[in-house]
Amino acid sequence: MGFFYELADDFLSLFFPRICHGCGEHLLRNEKLICTECLVAIPRTRYHLSEDNPVARLFWGRCSIERAAAFSYYNRGSRIRKIIHALKYDGVKELGEFLGRIYGTQLMESSFLEGIDYIVPVPLHPARERKRGYNQSAGICSGLSAATGIPVKTDLLKRSAFSATQTKRSRYDRWLNVEGIFTISGKEMLKNKHILLVDDVITTGSTIEACAAELKKVENLKISVAAMAWSPA
Ligand SMILES: [Zn+2]
Repeated sequence: MGFFYELADDFLSLFFPRICHGCGEHLLRNEKLICTECLVAIPRTRYHLSEDNPVARLFWGRCSIERAAAFSYYNRGSRIRKIIHALKYDGVKELGEFLGRIYGTQLMESSFLEGIDYIVPVPLHPARERKRGYNQSAGICSGLSAATGIPVKTDLLKRSAFSATQTKRSRYDRWLNVEGIFTISGKEMLKNKHILLVDDVITTGSTIEACAAELKKVENLKISVAAMAWSPA
């Protein structure tokens, strides 16, 4: 640490500039991954403060979800969209934990997480996870866990069949696309528990719905949902 460390750090950043993943500007020495300006500018939904919110409403009449919320709005051209893109497609794995920690800290200021036993990431298809090298939602979960102390369980829910990329499908097509693709292992462990199911972006809610359809096989399991962003379909 100290002077020489900082000197080396400055020297390195001449060749490997540390860039904010939201705006592309250089990061200050005390900033990491996302600059302060972007962090402040991310439009937060604060949905965790109200039970009746657009993300919760997505699941009404479809599956039984206790509470649902998303950290931010996923607007076109927005900084959070660039950040999540970097997390999913540019291999910036550490953004997951970074964002999860911020959201976890915010959620701790409310009763949203009350009674949650485990944090569970929505699984990626194994082939996609191999290709990407990580599950971005699992990274978000570790950040949430670091901020809240609630343990993460990555091995309880598995994704089996392959599903094509979902971006341009209707809600019904997406439902057909994801129905029956998740399997639970560790049913006994989930009995009488309340889990927080975590995804990076929620659009139609059909992925969560498919998870919930499988999780219904567990006796008295409660499900709540959190995502980093909410993108109205
Ligand atoms: Zn920035």
